[in-house]
Amino acid sequence: NTFAEIDLGDALNENIRRCKYVKPTPVQRYAIPISLMGRDLMACAQTGSGKTAAFCFPIISGIMRGPPAQRQRGSRTAYPHALILSPTRELSIQIHEEARKFAYQTGVRVVVAYGGAPINQQLRDLERGVDILVATPGRLVDLLERARVSLQHIRYLALDEADRMLDMGFEPQIRRIVEQMDMPPCGQRQTMLFSATFPKEIQRLASDFLYNYIFLAV
Ligand code: AMP
Repeated sequence: NTFAEIDLGDALNENIRRCKYVKPTPVQRYAIPISLMGRDLMACAQTGSGKTAAFCFPIISGIMRGPPAQRQRGSRTAYPHALILSPTRELSIQIHEEARKFAYQTGVRVVVAYGGAPINQQLRDLERGVDILVATPGRLVDLLERARVSLQHIRYLALDEADRMLDMGFEPQIRRIVEQMDMPPCGQRQTMLFSATFPKEIQRLASDFLYNYIFLAV
C-alpha cells in the first residue's frame, strides 16, 4: 500500500513523491479512501499521526477535479471551496505551509488567516484568490463580518484539533461559521472532524455538522 497506488491526480501525486511520502500512515490509510468516496468522517487522531495530509489530500484532489472557482468580478469577497479550521495561529501556519507544498502547481490556491496579527496582508492574500482557506475561528468571524469572505461555496470543511478548539471556548464561533455554509451536510458539503479525544461535546458537534459519518479511531 503506497501513495503511488492512490490516484489523487498527477500533480498531487507528484508533490507527495517530492515530499518523500511513500506509505500512508494509519490515519491516512483509512481517512483518504473514505474521503475520496465522498463520506463524512470523524477521526480520533493525535498530532504526529499525519492527519494534516489525511485531510489535505482529498481536499486538494477534489478541488483539482471540481469546477473552477467562479471569479466574482468587482467583488472584494472571497469564495473559497474549502475551509480548514484550526485552534491556533501556530497550527494554522503549519497547516498552510504543508498544504502549499501539496498544492504546488495544482492550480489550487491556499491562504491562511489567523488572529493576533495585522489583517491587511491577509486581506490582500484573499483578494488574489483562494480555494482553500486555513483559519482560526475568531479571525474568520471577523472576515465574515467584514464580508471579505463568504462560505457559500464551501464544499469541504475540515475541523482540526476540534477538542482543543472547544477547550479554548471557540464553540460559538464555530457554530456561527458553519451556519453560514450554503451546502447542506448531505452529499453536497463534505465534512471531516479531527479530534484527539471524543467527549460528549465533540459527539454533539459531530452529530450536528456531519452527515452519515464514518467513525475512525487509529
Ligand atoms: P501531522 O500529524 O500531520 O502533523 O504530521 C506529522 C509529521 O509527519 C509531519 O512532519 C509530516 O510531514 C510527516 N508525515 C505525514 N505523513 C507522512 C507519510 N505518509 N510519510 C512520511 N512522513 C509523513
